[in-house]
Formats: sequence, C-alpha cells, structure tokens
Amino acid sequence: MATTREVGVGDFVLMDKIDLDNFMENLQLRFKNGLIYTYIGEVCVSVNPYKTMNIYDQSYVEKYKGRELFENPPHIFAIADASHKVMKQQRKDTCIVISGESGSGKTEASKIIMKYIAAVTNQGVLPRLDGTDRAKGKHEIERVKNVLIQSNSILEAFGNAKTNRNDNSSRFGKYMDIHFDFKGDPIGGHISNYLLEKSRVTTQQAGERNFHCFYQLLTGANEDLLKRLSITRNPDQYFFVRQGNAAKVGTINDKFEFRDVTTSLNTLQFSQADQETLWRVIAAILHLGNVEFDINEEKLEIKKSKSVDHVADLLQVPKRDLETALSERVIAARGDIMRKEHTETEASFGRDAFAKAIYERLFNWIVKKINAAIAVDSSNFQKNYQSSLIGVLDIYGFEIFDNNSFEQFCINYCNEKLQQLFIELVLKQEQEEYNREGIEWTNIEYFNNQIICDLVEAPHKGVMAIMDDACKMTAEKVTDEMLLENMDRQLQGHKHFMSRQTKQSEKSLRHKIDFRITHYAGDVTYCIIGFLDKNKDTLFQDFKRLLYSSKDPNLKDMWPEGAQHITQITKRPPTAGTLFKTSMQELVKTLISKEPHYIRCIKPNEVKSPTNFDYERVKHQVSYLGLIENVRVRRAGFAYRQRYDKFLKRYKMISQFTWPNFRNGSDHDAVRVLMDEKGYADDVKYGKTKIFIRSPKTLFALENARNQL
Ligand code: ATP
Ligand code: MG
Repeated sequence: MATTREVGVGDFVLMDKIDLDNFMENLQLRFKNGLIYTYIGEVCVSVNPYKTMNIYDQSYVEKYKGRELFENPPHIFAIADASHKVMKQQRKDTCIVISGESGSGKTEASKIIMKYIAAVTNQGVLPRLDGTDRAKGKHEIERVKNVLIQSNSILEAFGNAKTNRNDNSSRFGKYMDIHFDFKGDPIGGHISNYLLEKSRVTTQQAGERNFHCFYQLLTGANEDLLKRLSITRNPDQYFFVRQGNAAKVGTINDKFEFRDVTTSLNTLQFSQADQETLWRVIAAILHLGNVEFDINEEKLEIKKSKSVDHVADLLQVPKRDLETALSERVIAARGDIMRKEHTETEASFGRDAFAKAIYERLFNWIVKKINAAIAVDSSNFQKNYQSSLIGVLDIYGFEIFDNNSFEQFCINYCNEKLQQLFIELVLKQEQEEYNREGIEWTNIEYFNNQIICDLVEAPHKGVMAIMDDACKMTAEKVTDEMLLENMDRQLQGHKHFMSRQTKQSEKSLRHKIDFRITHYAGDVTYCIIGFLDKNKDTLFQDFKRLLYSSKDPNLKDMWPEGAQHITQITKRPPTAGTLFKTSMQELVKTLISKEPHYIRCIKPNEVKSPTNFDYERVKHQVSYLGLIENVRVRRAGFAYRQRYDKFLKRYKMISQFTWPNFRNGSDHDAVRVLMDEKGYADDVKYGKTKIFIRSPKTLFALENARNQL
C-alpha cells in the first residue's frame, strides 16, 4: 500500500481560524496532493478526484476495519466502518446519507461503501456445503453480498444516463436498506426507488442520451437478438435515442456494459423469459419513437405502419388494438361510452405518454424483482436472529440545466429536503449531546432552508398544491400559462420565488413562461411549459387495457389496472408531484429514525478534470452545503470530545499519575488528574460520560506528547 503523506488538516475543526478562505485553502491543498477526503468531526467531505485512486484495495480495508475515525487518515471506509460498528455493537439502525450536486461522486461513494461492507463481513474460508445451518447461512450471506453489488449494474443501465453534467448521471433516487444478522453479516436488503426521470425516454437535450440500456442493447446484442427484436445497430435510425446526437460517449463502453448487465441479470435470477421481456420492451420503445401521425382529409392517419407492426409484435398485443389505442380514446361519461379520435397533437402526446409509461413500469418491475432476490429469507438463519440495518441513500444531485422542467423542480426539491435533514440532524445531534452531557450550548447562525421546502410543499399554498389545484380543474381548459398566473398571484412577494410578473425588471425571465426559485444551492429558472401534463401524468385508458391483454405474462403483470372494465369510473390518481412529495416526506421520516452518517460530495470542476480545482465553483458548494457552519457548530467551543475510557486508553501513558494504571477513582477522575497535570484545565469541560476539549491545539499537544514517548 502506498502511503500518502497527510497535508493540511484532516479535520476542518482543527483549523486555526474557521472561515471560508481557510476552509478553501485546506480543501484545495489536500485535493492538489491527492487527498480527497477530509472530516468535519464525523462528517466526511469528499472531492471527486475524476481519476482512479488506488486507495480502495484490500490493504486499505484492513487498515480501516474496526478502527476509530481518528486512528487513520480520513477515508470513506472509516465512515462505512463507523456505521457498521454502531449497527453491530449497539444494535442501532444507521444510515449513510450521501449528498452533493450532480457529478460530485455520490453514486461512486455508495458503491465504495457497499464494497467495503462486503469486504469486512462473512470473513474466513467458506465451509463446505454439508447441510448444516451454519454452512448454509454463510453461503447465503455470500449470495446476498453478490446480489447487492450486482444489482448496481442493472439499476444503472436502466436508471442512469449521460447528461451534460455527468456521463453516468442517476436519473432516479435510490435508498437501499442492508439488513444484518447479529454477527454483523448482511442477510438481505430492500431498495426503494424514487421518481424516475421518464421524460428522457422520449426527449433528450443536445449532448445528452436516453438511458444507458438503449445504447447497450444496440451495441451489445448479438445478431440473433437484434433480429428477434427487428432492430439494427444504428442509433441514428431511432428518434428516441438520437436527439442529443451523443450516442457514443468516450467514458462508456456500452458493449462491455451489456455483457455485464446480462451477467448480473443471470445472477439475480432473471429468467430467459424475463430478459426477453426486458429487451422486447426496450426495442418496442425504439420502434414507437418512429411512429408518426398525419391528418388526411380530416382523418388521423398513422404513418410508418411497419414500426407499429414491430411494436405490436414485441409487446405481444393485437396490432388493430394498438392502432386504435394510438389514434383514439374512450370517454366514459355518465355511463355512456364514446370514442373520440385524436388530433395530431393528442396522438403524439398519447404515443409519448405510452412510451414513458411502459418504461417506468419496466423499471419498477426490475426493482421489484431485485427486491425479491435480496429479500431476507429468515429460514436460512438461526432462530431468533435479530436484524439491524444500514440504509444507504444515493439520490440525484441538485442540478441546473439550460432548460429546467418539472423533473429538475422535483430533483431540486428533493435536495432541499436532504439539506433540511442535514441541518436538523447535525444541529440536533450536537444539541442533544451537549444537553445529555450537561454542557452549555451556544447557538450558531446558519441559513435554514425550511422556507424553500415550504415554498414547494406547504399544504394549500405551496407550488405543489397550486399545481394540483390546476390539475383538478376539468371544466375549463387550464393551461401552463394559467398555472403560472396562479403561482404569481399566490406567491407574490415570496423571497424565494420570482417571475416576470412579480418582478417586471427581471428581463432574463420570459413573460408567462419562466419562474425562478432561489434554492439553497442557487437560482434555478424553470420553464412552466409541460408542468401540468407532467404533473397529471395521464395515460389514456386504452393503453392500459391493451397491455393487460398482452400474451407476455410479465407485461400483463405490470399493468393490473388494465383489467378494469371501460365503464368503471376510476378515481383520479394522485398527481406525480404529490406522489413525489409524499415519498420524500416518508424518506425523511425513515432517515430521521436512524443514526445518520454523512458524506458531503463536492465537484471540483465542470470539465471532469483530475487536476483542475475551480476555486469559485467549489467555494459556492462549500457555502451552500453549510460546511463552514457545520465546522462552527461542531466546534461550538469544543473541537473534540471523547468517552473517558477511550480517552484514557489513548493518553494515559503521558502522565505519571495515570500510567500504567490510575488507582484513585473512575476514568473520569483519571482524565481530570491527567489534564490538570498537563495544564489544560481551562480548556476542557467534563460531561457526564465524555471529555470536551475546546482548542484543537490541546489535542495536538496531547498527540505530540504521545508520539514523543
Ligand atoms: P448524479 O447526481 O448526476 O447522479 P453523482 O454525484 O452520483 O451524480 P457520480 O456518478 O458518482 O456522480 O460521479 C461522476 C463521475 O465522477 C464518475 O462516473 C467517475 O468518473 C468520477 N468519480 C466520482 N467519484 C470517484 C472516485 N471516488 N474515484 C474515481 N472517480 C470518481
Ligand atoms: Mg448518481
């Protein structure tokens, strides 16, 4: 193992003076020296290195395994280990929240954490499978580890895409619980997924791609599969994958990934029939994108009838029914059933909604199947096993594009919620600790983004509620423009909301089109066009019935509501915005119930360079992430705290009174005698179970004294 020299301070609380400049200087110095991790107490700040780092191999695993944070240089392994230790020793559920903007390294961090957990668990040689419970259990743990790790490549294939900010950008949110037995070995897990950016299936901005799986299929499939799916290798032939004009990406080997995904699908027990369904749906979407409409003598006509043939074949539905579903819709009003032909616009809208919906259902089906493969099978484990868990959260990061729509609005709201959680937990924990230990607490000023969360989610008056109100109005045709007018009226004067209507002088905002939210991480201008449709998320009923009629049992399973009869009036389903809001609120509840560990990811530059440290961009992130406040709170007078027994164990050799043993009282008494002898009495406070040290210099001095022995 190459040893890297420590440069700067490994924990920002040890800085002499806490301000943005010093913080930046330390962060930059460390980045330039290849040190990408730095702590703020127990929070790990990670800067994306944009190059392969040789710091994750077995020797590093050994170095961090079972150790305390301060014993080794900062590393993400130490956070994973801390989380695992708490879970194992205290039987507490923990979670690791990874946050940062798009491209800052969250997904990589979550994979490193999972690999570390896999590396430190179920150790020793696997016993022969001799029918004993123990052997069975150990093999099951290996299987679970394998499945947990391999699920990543499948989820990334179907849920990640190249954006203009990140070649492998997560386009869905992922929260994974890993369950452990009483020995601390993983016995299963569960994945929750959040709002997939399905609009990408039909539309991509310049320079961007559709989800990876489309390109993997086109480059990786063998001739036989291509033939069965009636597709050719050339992405330019398919409208749904060529719009961004970026099918080839330097950093991605789609062909290799296709093989990898296939291996993972096999490991996760996707049968041949399941895999066939999967690729047939993807191919059907490719063909669907080429279906066009025309009006001929006032009648809607489907052009490219060959594409429709392929779609019908691939989805295993009757072609006639598919054509009908594409060109008209059923309206059930007061028991009467009428059919109404689409206009050209409605037909295109219906086609796109159809493509997006089958993709989304496919994605949910994949997650469901992965969950079945990793579900805890208690029959494999000793009776009365008690399981605890570690939750790992890796979600889409805050993002600003040239054109920001409903999806960016949801993604950025999600990041607001996580920031809110960080503020609450980090402060709360500190407060609780000080209270618990009977130490006086000084408040630190920080920006509380609750006001922005409220702007989005407040009942009746938040943006989500205003959108839902607009979606409920059916009597008149509500347009996006009218929605914006409502927002203007209700949100006028809000410090974090602005549009051309509410601020006439703001020339950069287009009248009746744009609105701007001042997020904790910066201003984002959203274009209102499409918000209503995306929030309503309508899919004409005919499509649902069509898919339910598929001869492919997997597809049929994905569309149970297709079984409903035409006349059954279905209650309007909750809007996409409301579903997302509710799922975010539940996620926050889940996280808050666990002991959190934080990884704060930072993107060093916009050009994916391993050497470029864009000072202003990084400074902006450090500011909005509230890292300086984090250091201040952490230090709130006390840079360091430690349990008496542990403190004594580490420093007892530096005092004649405590070495080798202190015989005149408790650990607490011993620590007091030691600190008095060394002249630090004024710099410390004694809590009920811990010593709190105000100045980092004292800690340095203690460390020095220890090293000089
Ligand atoms: P998004 O919010 O868009 O999903 P993200 O925060 O998940 O972004 P990642 O996909 O994890 O970002 O990272 C982007 C890229 O940066 C990776 O594909 C990889 O090339 C590089 N990268 C990130 N972390 C590391 C690391 N620890 N070592 C090497 N490269 C890294
Ligand atoms: Mg990601």
